[in-house]
This record gives sequence, C-alpha cells and structure tokens, in this order.
Amino acid sequence: MLNEGGRDVLRCPALMPSGGQPEEELKALLPASIAVRFEEMFPSARNGRIKRRDRKRAEMLRKAEPVLQRALNPLEVVRFATNGVRQLTWWLLTAGSMNPFANRTTLVLTDRRVLLIHTDSKQRPRLFANQLPLERIRATAGRNSYIFIRSGREQLMFHGVKRSEARQLRGLLDSTATKNGGWQNLCPRCFTATDGVPLACEKCGEEFKSPRTATLRSLIFPGLGDFYLGYRKYAALEIIGATLLWALFLSTLVPAVMTKGLDGALVAGPLLALLAFIHIGDALLTRAKAKTGLHSKDGNLPTGEKGDSPLFERVNSASW
Ligand SMILES: [Zn+2]
Repeated sequence: MLNEGGRDVLRCPALMPSGGQPEEELKALLPASIAVRFEEMFPSARNGRIKRRDRKRAEMLRKAEPVLQRALNPLEVVRFATNGVRQLTWWLLTAGSMNPFANRTTLVLTDRRVLLIHTDSKQRPRLFANQLPLERIRATAGRNSYIFIRSGREQLMFHGVKRSEARQLRGLLDSTATKNGGWQNLCPRCFTATDGVPLACEKCGEEFKSPRTATLRSLIFPGLGDFYLGYRKYAALEIIGATLLWALFLSTLVPAVMTKGLDGALVAGPLLALLAFIHIGDALLTRAKAKTGLHSKDGNLPTGEKGDSPLFERVNSASW
C-alpha cells in the first residue's frame, strides 16, 4: 500500500491514529467458528473506527457462539446482532416492569432468519430460542430503542436496544407482503424448528415443560408456574408479593370475623377479589411465557461453560 502513491500514505495514518487495523482487532474478538458479514456487523469500521459498542457486539456474539454453532446451517452468515428485552404485548399491562428479570434476549440476524436467544443478564444463553425465517417478515417498525417485527398475525416487540443498533437493524430488515408466518420455536437441544409448542422434540426426543402445568401451578399460587419454567428470580419476587397480600387478607379477615361474625367477612371481600384477580392474571401470564419458547425439562441452552448439562455435552461431541 505504501508504494501505491502519496495519497494513500497520507490518508491511512490519519484515519488510523492508533496504528492498529480496526478490522483485524474486531475479527480477533469475533467467535472463530461463525461466519460474519463484516461491513454490516460493524458499519463504522469502514471509516477506520471502532466504537466501544462494536467490541461489545463482538463479545455478545462470542457468548452466543455455543448456540450459533449448533443452530446455524454450515453456509449461513451472521449479518448483525443486538440485545434487548423481549415484550409480549399484554405483559405490559401486568408485569411489564419486571420483564428484564425474565426476558433478556440476544437477537441475531443472519442471511436466512432472525434468531432470538433467551439469555441471562450477562448475555449467556439460558432457556430457549426462536427463529423467524426472513421470508416470513411482514413488516418492521420502531423508534429509538424499540424494534417491532410483524409476522403473520403476531408482533414481536423488542425494547431496550442501543439506539444506533436498533437503527442499523431496522435498515437491514426487509419486509415482504406475506400474510403467512409466525415465529418458530427451536428445540434447545438439537435446534430443529417447529411452528407449534410440542411436548417433545420430533427429532431428538427432548422433552419440554408443559404450558398447562405451568399455568395450573401459577393459578394455585402466583410464581409457582414461573419457578417451574426456570424463571427463579422473577418467581421469587412474585411469591413474596403474593404471600404479603395473603397475609394482609388473613390479618384483615380473622379479626373482622371475630368481632362481627360472618358479616365481618365482607370487610375482607375486596382483598379477596384482588387476590383472585392476581392468581388468574399470573396464570394467564405464565401460560403466555410458557408458549414463548420450548423450555427443556432436563437442561438449558448450551453456554459453553462447565455447568452445561451432560445432555448438551453429548450433542456437542456428536455434532463435531
Ligand atoms: Zn430436538
């Protein structure tokens, strides 16, 4: 390059004052086993710059690598990635503010699909994964930190995304006129896609937790269904809240009945109605959550760490 002419010699050092090649630096951070379309993943690197967020995005992909390795086809190329909180429309009415405890998600766009990977707060893959083949995208929208992806009759709402990344992603998503579609669930063990919510994987036989069981448990006591599905922190908060309400109810009911007889029960009536509302509401919420993805009975998504369940370790060695 130095021999090609004076202009290049002058331009290059000015754009890369640190002396490092940004492309090389970012490539070193990316997971080696995943093919990435570099210009789309790091649009600012073209100008010789690396933003802090670019490094974070590379790191995000590295954490998702154990899932990507298994879920992607051999020739599939990753175009972009970002992370945020997944929202189901009517969760907003009830537990919207508690969502970040349960719904952190890494979104990966490839040349074939949008992949959603449920993660913990440190972006490590956790319970389940979903996909949307690109030809099923009906419309996309969003402002600021929000992304909406409509497919068939469903709409995915994704929020808490870095604004620059939300903008870049929306620019990369094409809409089609199709009215057919919907998100697909991926088996968390073999990553076979299905349109339904089966109780076991048709391909590898992995068994999944039942939405019905989860719903019934939350109806009996709020939080129990979430605990069964694996959302422990979220469940703990719900169990504490519901226990306090039940304690308040009983501490109102008992003295009222003692002093006024059966008429006293009316005093605690509104509290009982509130409790019933919360039990039923949580049951419906748990049902929606259970149907959001396939929750394995025996293990979580592979994270590449030692804590991975033996089941997934075996799948590993078989696929390599
Ligand atoms: Zn499977």
